[in-house]
Amino acid sequence: MFIYIKVILVSRKFVNLFIDKKMNFSIIHKRLYFNKKACSLLIGICIIFPNLLSVPIAPVFAQTGSTDTVPITIVIHGGAGTINRENMSREMEKAYRTTLQQAVNFGYGILERGGTSLEAVVGSIKILEDSPLFNAGKGAVFTHDGKNELDASIMDGKSLAAGAVAGVGTIKNPIEAAYAVMTQSPHVMLSGSGAEQFAKEKGLEIVDPSYFFTERRYKSLQRLLNQKDGGSFNNLLNPDQKHGTVGVLALDREGNLAAGTSTGGMTNKKYGRIGDSPIIGAGTYADNLSCAVSSTGHGEFFIRKVVAYDISAKVRYGGMAVQEACEKVIYEELPALGGSGGVIALDQYGNYSMVFNTEGMYRAFRQEGKGSGIYIYKQ
Ligand code: ASP
Repeated sequence: MFIYIKVILVSRKFVNLFIDKKMNFSIIHKRLYFNKKACSLLIGICIIFPNLLSVPIAPVFAQTGSTDTVPITIVIHGGAGTINRENMSREMEKAYRTTLQQAVNFGYGILERGGTSLEAVVGSIKILEDSPLFNAGKGAVFTHDGKNELDASIMDGKSLAAGAVAGVGTIKNPIEAAYAVMTQSPHVMLSGSGAEQFAKEKGLEIVDPSYFFTERRYKSLQRLLNQKDGGSFNNLLNPDQKHGTVGVLALDREGNLAAGTSTGGMTNKKYGRIGDSPIIGAGTYADNLSCAVSSTGHGEFFIRKVVAYDISAKVRYGGMAVQEACEKVIYEELPALGGSGGVIALDQYGNYSMVFNTEGMYRAFRQEGKGSGIYIYKQ
């Protein structure tokens, strides 16, 4: 009895090992998640029914995964960059907070009703894509040639299935196209006119390129073009370069993770430039055995560092917690190359982190039993 209780307490999070009073032991499913309630319940059962201890309980847990105790969670970013109080009007801040709140609540509602993490990711990202505030969908930034070229990707942490579209200009919600690539094609990434044709054939909403025009983004491009050097592509300290890419991570009742990212890329991009957002492993990654990740920032550096997968690998093989892995990459490794931006990450136990090395990052979360939060600036 004593050993049994002690093992449960010690192993609440990582060690999935049960020992009964006859000293039989079993390693159970990795997904078993112990919260305080579950521990107290098990201890209580042991005290009342000591005989139960000789029953081989491990296989029962292994099959069910004890997923009732997974805290459904949604984590969102809306881009990182030069976001500070001085540059932000009250109305603007309110508008950002309201939309982040809507996106987080919408995704959480899907999870609450038993929907999958993939459904929650697509649903929340669509809200952000339809808002002109974020650099994704309707609010996409302009290329050097005055066009909007959008990228998006999605990944399922359970099956490692993934889908992405790159450089598309007529698909209203690129995240839906990425999801369709994952679920209705044998491919992982489609680009340009081919991706647009695919989206049309799959019945997704196609719009005229003018749908993506917004005055604010167009002015940003003009300001950059009017600079002496024709507009530096690399200067994230320039407010016109600040990001607004969106990313969503979700953990559903079944304990499955999913990640998605959608963007217009970077203002003044040229020659069909594609950033990290549609690249699985750089902008997006999800694996139930490690974590889900979505990146935002100067894409070239995120591609070179394979940031999303690197964080996942640090968790899976390096034994790091998600917060530690994100901090290592965003505070140390990425700046060492000259890269700036941020990430969000979420593991199967509901541990999440939102880390950035810029002045701010639009971000929000909602988690069962913990409530919700919306943040913009450094805390
Ligand atoms: N990572 C995106 C890109 O490089 C931009 C961003 O996150 O805002 O295309």
